[in-house]
Amino acid sequence: MDFNYTPAEEQFRMELRAFLAEALPEGWGETVFLPEDEDEQAVFRLDWERKLYEGGWSCIGWPKEYGGRDATLSERAIYAEELARARAPELINIIGQNLAGHTIIHHGTPEQKARFLPGIISSREVWCQGFSEPNAGSDLASIKTRAELKGDKFIVNGQKIWTSFAQHSQWCLALVRTSNEGPRHKGISLLLIDMRSPGITLRPLRQISGENEFNETFFDDVEVPIENLLGPINEGWRITMTTLSYERGPEDALGRQVRIKQELDTLIAKTTELRNDGKRLIDDPLVRQKLGRSIAEVEIIRLNCLRALSRYLAGEDRGSDASILKLFWSEVGVRMSETAMDVLGPLATLNGDDPLAVGSGRWLTSWLQSKAFTIYAGSSEIQRNIIGERVLGLPR
Ligand SMILES: Cc1cc2nc3c(=O)[nH]c(=O)nc-3n(C[C@H](O)[C@H](O)[C@H](O)COP(=O)(O)OP(=O)(O)OC[C@H]3O[C@@H](n4cnc5c(N)ncnc54)[C@H](O)[C@@H]3O)c2cc1C
Repeated sequence: MDFNYTPAEEQFRMELRAFLAEALPEGWGETVFLPEDEDEQAVFRLDWERKLYEGGWSCIGWPKEYGGRDATLSERAIYAEELARARAPELINIIGQNLAGHTIIHHGTPEQKARFLPGIISSREVWCQGFSEPNAGSDLASIKTRAELKGDKFIVNGQKIWTSFAQHSQWCLALVRTSNEGPRHKGISLLLIDMRSPGITLRPLRQISGENEFNETFFDDVEVPIENLLGPINEGWRITMTTLSYERGPEDALGRQVRIKQELDTLIAKTTELRNDGKRLIDDPLVRQKLGRSIAEVEIIRLNCLRALSRYLAGEDRGSDASILKLFWSEVGVRMSETAMDVLGPLATLNGDDPLAVGSGRWLTSWLQSKAFTIYAGSSEIQRNIIGERVLGLPR
């Protein structure tokens, strides 16, 4: 294992860092933050994605022929770290760029590549992911949304749920049932569905944090042209499982490690300022113990990522260690937020407008948002099952 970056990789980091310093507003992450209003925030984030594209920093892992940089694994890891370090807005078109884009590159027809990739890389067209259904989440193979081929069109009927950013999306990468014969996962196909099609209804779902990130999505006799089938019919499951590993890889986890560490560092700084009964919070042994645990755990996330990267660089396949990374960063993220709530007590509930608020007053929202970490991209229980069966070789 060699955790050092080469001079060329360090040069890449510096080039990206210079771009970010120039492209983000002055005072970003310190005095200037994302707009509070969700619609304004979406506009801001999409503008940011376009800036990344115009600067040549969008979808860097894509082949050059599709507008990417053919970035190496190490460069992609540096990219995730640097965007997180600069506190750059997270992507709204993450499904387009990470999931739909990769899948179209690997399995799309030349016409699909020409039609969709330019819109994805520039975030001119935003994508959502229509996988989960009310009775199909962890057990995704039990999806029921039907697509029947009639002439040169599929007719889609059914319901998806938890569709993040569907309200901003022009396209949906959807898993649909195209056959009821044979094993469940052999009758599933991937469709590229135009979200402006007649028969699609969105119903927003408000989250515990008060935000409206996701939706219920209803399909009533929605017509999808046959040329929007991605990959062979009834092969959607196999294709999806290979591309989903990108959702949980070390590149993603490294960026998350940096963001969790930023919150932890702010928390530690605050415990040196705040006092309880005249004593600094940081001098309380229980507070020190909790912070100490978080410091160690956050560092372990980084080392886990570097270990996985080293293995992939040595030619090993992306395996089940993606599950170890996802399980660990998500559980640490939740614990870190809980530590912040415990340590800051009632002050944690004050928002940024309150003169007594700590930092930017985002602790409560972060804590509420952290509840989702152990659910999306495969819940903790599912990751433990994968680790048990495929890493530890335990019986099913
Ligand atoms: C913030 C957020 C954004 C999301 N965005 C999207 C999106 O854009 N598109 C999309 O399609 N989906 C999205 N999802 C849905 C997500 O993929 C599912 O929530 C997830 O797969 C879990 O499915 P479920 O909610 O149906 O829970 P279930 O699968 O019903 O699980 C309920 C509980 O049972 C446990 N469990 C289930 N099966 C097993 C098992 N075999 N062994 C042990 N325990 C088990 C689970 O761990 C969980 O604790 C999002 C979710 C969140 C939280």
